[in-house]
Amino acid sequence: MWERLDLLTELATRADAPSLLSVARSELPKLTDGWRALLAAHEPDDKGNCPECSGRWRQQKAPCSVWRAAYDHLVVGGLAPRPARQRSATVTGAVTRARRAVARAH
Ligand SMILES: [Zn+2]
Repeated sequence: MWERLDLLTELATRADAPSLLSVARSELPKLTDGWRALLAAHEPDDKGNCPECSGRWRQQKAPCSVWRAAYDHLVVGGLAPRPARQRSATVTGAVTRARRAVARAH
C-alpha cells in the first residue's frame, strides 16, 4: 500500500504532462472514493461518537483522529503545499500536485 502511494507521488513529481493527466484521471477518483469510504466509516453516529473508533467499553467522541486528519488534509491543507513530514502527508501532496498539474493542462 505504501509503495502504491509512493509510486503516485513519484508520478506526480516526475511524469510529463500528458502522462500525469492520464494518471490523475484514473487515480484521483480512486483516492476520492477511498476518502469517502474512510469518512463514511468514521461518520459520527446519532450520539456524536465515531462508531469505528469506539470500543465496547470506551466511546470515542467525534470527530475522531481519522476525521480530524482528513479535515486537516482535505480542507485546511487542501490547496497549500506542505512538507512531507510524515507518510500521511504524502497523499495530500500527491493530490495537490496532481490537481495543479490538471489545472495547468487546461
Ligand atoms: Zn473514527
